[in-house]
Amino acid sequence: MSAQRSIIIGGGAFAGLALAQALRQGLGGDIPIIVADPALASRPSRDPRATAIVAACRRLFEALEVWDQVAAQAQPILDMVVTDSRLRDATRPVFLTFAGDVEPGEPFAHMVENRHLIDALVKRAEAEGVDLLLVAADGARSKLRERAGIATHGWEYDQSGIVVTVGHERDHQGRAEEHFLPAGPFAILPLKGNRSSLVWTESRKEASRIVALSDDEFHGELEQRFGLHLGEIKALDKPRAFPLGYFVARSFIGERLALVGDAAHVIHPIAGQGLNMGLKDVAALAEVIVDAARLGMDLGQADVLDRYQRWRRFDTMAMGLATNSLNLLFSNESTLLRAVRDIGLGLVDRAPPLKSIFIRQAAGLAGEVPRLLKGEAL
Ligand SMILES: Cc1cc2nc3c(=O)[nH]c(=O)nc-3n(C[C@H](O)[C@H](O)[C@H](O)COP(=O)(O)OP(=O)(O)OC[C@H]3O[C@@H](n4cnc5c(N)ncnc54)[C@H](O)[C@@H]3O)c2cc1C
Repeated sequence: MSAQRSIIIGGGAFAGLALAQALRQGLGGDIPIIVADPALASRPSRDPRATAIVAACRRLFEALEVWDQVAAQAQPILDMVVTDSRLRDATRPVFLTFAGDVEPGEPFAHMVENRHLIDALVKRAEAEGVDLLLVAADGARSKLRERAGIATHGWEYDQSGIVVTVGHERDHQGRAEEHFLPAGPFAILPLKGNRSSLVWTESRKEASRIVALSDDEFHGELEQRFGLHLGEIKALDKPRAFPLGYFVARSFIGERLALVGDAAHVIHPIAGQGLNMGLKDVAALAEVIVDAARLGMDLGQADVLDRYQRWRRFDTMAMGLATNSLNLLFSNESTLLRAVRDIGLGLVDRAPPLKSIFIRQAAGLAGEVPRLLKGEAL
């Protein structure tokens, strides 16, 4: 009976590979799990980005036995400062600071370079005997969703996120910085060593101009925003611009199909939550499928998939709304809005209980948390 069932995952990046590993652990070896992705032919990964992995998702990677392989390259975020100013302002007043751990000794997030994480997930999947198919029938990611006739709701922002790794003279001490500038957030996220990963938001036109500048001209633009608080700085790789958008699939499920990760939703990186939301999908879907398998149910039947959709869609809509509002509130030059947001940030900064609610929310530990995100095996 079980030999006739198989689970096919289209897309073998973070969400697809983490789901394959979670299902392999929870279901054992009986049900074939196949991950199909043309990109698996070009490993090791060359993704230049880095991701803030929040505490709950680090617990998931620990439960999936992947964290050990990336821990040495993961930089804990030990504190965070938030500023709000115009580009040419001489000083950037700090309006909000976060420090500390979600649990004793457990930082609320770690910065991990995407290529390390993907390569660790691929190795783990290979070791667990998950079938990795090098060629998929489809080219574009959206094709699977399109084929299932699932529409999306959302829009493109007139913004791109410029991503570049910066080397600096002084130690960042594990501090993450988010500077709200008129074009949008400029985030400095600590990596291992004297390096930081930048997510620098500009209008799409300005971002295209900036990434096409000569090295010297680029350095001038970078220094104006980054400042010299960490000593001399230097771009360590070629800057790349990622167009930013927002969408949520109108349904997370179809006929014997479930959408996870960016196939189900894309949000603004202003709060560094895109992949973390995708990993929450992974943990919820794996739990729903493994529970159904233990009850001897058909894994693709509507009420099994429905449980997944009920669990994840509302949470996703709420996060989408929050990131859209943050972006609207912060990515502009209005003096009135600046005054309003700075009062708001100041109030949060002076209210430790409110801060700890925010930290637990951002760390993925609020609400109905799937077992894997608590670090428990399925
Ligand atoms: C500038 C920037 C900064 C970010 N920073 C953060 C952060 O700090 N924290 C955070 O949580 N998130 C962040 N994100 C979001 C995060 O990068 C994404 O949410 C994450 O990459 C999504 O992972 P995924 O596995 O769902 O999809 P993807 O990484 O897009 O992978 C999809 C995979 O599917 C494959 N594929 C496509 N079409 C098909 C097909 N038809 N058949 C088979 N395979 C196919 C592709 O080859 C690819 O390997 C950021 C995003 C941007 C743009």
